[in-house]
Amino acid sequence: MSTAQTATSPSAKASPSAEQHPKGNLFAIVQQQLEKAIRAVNLSKDTAVILSQPKNELIVHFPVRMDDGSLKLFKGYRIQHNNILGPYKGGIRYHEDVTLDEVKGLAAAMTWKCALHDIPFGGAKGGVKFNPRLHSKSELERITRRYTHALGANIGPEFDIPAPDAGTNAQTMVWIMDTYMNVVGFNEKNAMRRVVTGKTIASGGSYGREAATGTGVVHCLTEWARDRRFDINGANYIVQGFGNVGSHTAKILSRLGATMVATGDYKGYIANPEGLNPFKLADHVAATGSVVGYKHAKTITREEFFGSEADIFIPAALELEIGEKEAKALKVKVVAEGANGPTYPEADEIFQQRGIDVIPDILANSGGVTVSYFEWLQNKRSERWELEEVEEKLERRMKRTYQQVRELAEEKKLDFRTAAYGIALNRIETAYSERGIFP
Ligand code: NAD
Repeated sequence: MSTAQTATSPSAKASPSAEQHPKGNLFAIVQQQLEKAIRAVNLSKDTAVILSQPKNELIVHFPVRMDDGSLKLFKGYRIQHNNILGPYKGGIRYHEDVTLDEVKGLAAAMTWKCALHDIPFGGAKGGVKFNPRLHSKSELERITRRYTHALGANIGPEFDIPAPDAGTNAQTMVWIMDTYMNVVGFNEKNAMRRVVTGKTIASGGSYGREAATGTGVVHCLTEWARDRRFDINGANYIVQGFGNVGSHTAKILSRLGATMVATGDYKGYIANPEGLNPFKLADHVAATGSVVGYKHAKTITREEFFGSEADIFIPAALELEIGEKEAKALKVKVVAEGANGPTYPEADEIFQQRGIDVIPDILANSGGVTVSYFEWLQNKRSERWELEEVEEKLERRMKRTYQQVRELAEEKKLDFRTAAYGIALNRIETAYSERGIFP
């Protein structure tokens, strides 16, 4: 187990133009967004210095026995960005492209997201660099348990609380919980349930958590639609990534009368101008692992996907998917960022010039961490809240935060991303100015 600290801030690479890859450096891009917001809200130099790097960067290597008897070494990360407002909180990603700077960027976004929503948590993120699709369920279980063990006392129910992200799910969280519970003292075992959120219902999860991120995206869209006098009923939308966030957002939007005309995932893109049924498509994905091959659609290219005739675009895959080329191609009125960090700063500028609204990630996709916080509270109090109660509390929080962002954006003539960062940064700065630096 080792810790690594990077002293210098990397510079942002250019956004993709003709080619989509290689991707830019997410941490550098998040820092670029941060610096813009720091200027907009006149953040003190001291707070800006503190926030320029995460507090802790943990890198672990751990061996796992494969089904065929061989041993494989895995590399895992846990970045604890900031905890001035409460315990570190953030998802764990399983993906072959996970890097230190990606996890640092995602951890920083968690700090802003919790602060924006006034959730008493800080920001963290974790990841293991491997492709989960290439492993059996029993291998995934052993990888998860070994990773949890390698993290050791660096996570904990009052210190750092992981959750699902791309490539992980409720089952992954239950394995983490069980591993963690079994290495702490017997008396405290049951108080350890809240070491992770996003668990299954039977193992202490919250009603409404699985769909929470998608639910939150749609609350933001309905607020946006009200402001813009736009009718979601009858609108067309496209979704990039049809996993947890993409599929739930699509199902809820369809219930509101909107039509999904194109979607895509790691394998390819599909379209049907008459509409794709997200419920049937989710069944197809559960059976085959991808949207590709769905029989009520034609296959399209990535370029055709971004050029679709639609009103709403929901990026819900991974970060840095929308560069200049994609921003110019999109024909939509609004982009609601289900994914974390999907948009390059250059693309943001193009959206602004073209009058396309962007509901930024830390606002749009925060339904997940909000219900994670509810789950943590329920575990702490040994309570189980009804679905209606969870949904009502989530709706109230999402709409309240959306309105706060809109008000600051109007007052200071800011884009929504900068306004959302501004609210978050002001909360963090107030805490630092009251508490100072110890010793
Ligand atoms: P997931 O693994 O369930 O789904 C990811 C989807 O993206 C899959 O359909 C996958 O095939 C697709 N995808 C991967 N690479 C792609 C590529 N290059 N092009 C197109 N599609 C691609 O993950 P998820 O939990 O839905 O997370 C998606 C995004 O939302 C991530 O950015 C994540 O950080 C963010 N997010 C998730 C949550 C949550 O509660 N799960 C909360 C907030 C934000």
